Amino acid sequence: MSAAMTLTDELDAPVARTTTLFRFVEFVCPHCGVERGGVHVDGDDGVTFVECGVCHHEHSVGVLAVPTQARLEQWRSDAVHRGNVALRSADGVHGCSLLAIASCRRLADELTAPGKLRLLDEIARSVGDELHPVQQAALVELGVALGLPAAAINAMLALL
Ligand SMILES: [Zn+2]
Repeated sequence: MSAAMTLTDELDAPVARTTTLFRFVEFVCPHCGVERGGVHVDGDDGVTFVECGVCHHEHSVGVLAVPTQARLEQWRSDAVHRGNVALRSADGVHGCSLLAIASCRRLADELTAPGKLRLLDEIARSVGDELHPVQQAALVELGVALGLPAAAINAMLALL
């Protein structure tokens, strides 16, 4: 709500810029320390920043690189879905799906080791049946993409 007011205020104010793009964004505000709604301002004069809708601090657009909870959850469900597809299509000829590997790699810096193991476990169980050796190898690839040490991956496989 306050973000909308900010936008209106900005539009009503006389501005020297000829073209300025406003885009509503959800981001982790470094000043508030939590997720906030805000406005990504992109002026044609090269001035670009993210303004928090609550504290009204201006931040560099680098703050948008920090994933929000909603984005992380989306990334995680993408990884489960693509991991499931990769395991189902693992036939010993084709390697692990590149999409599944990319999805896991994207989470490597975001999840803790227990979180990564839970994700791998969820992918493994999403297949339903006992994993074939080829599928186990595919799962190891995904574990490596997540940045898990080999010992942790093998310990998890032993428990399946
Ligand atoms: Zn803020």
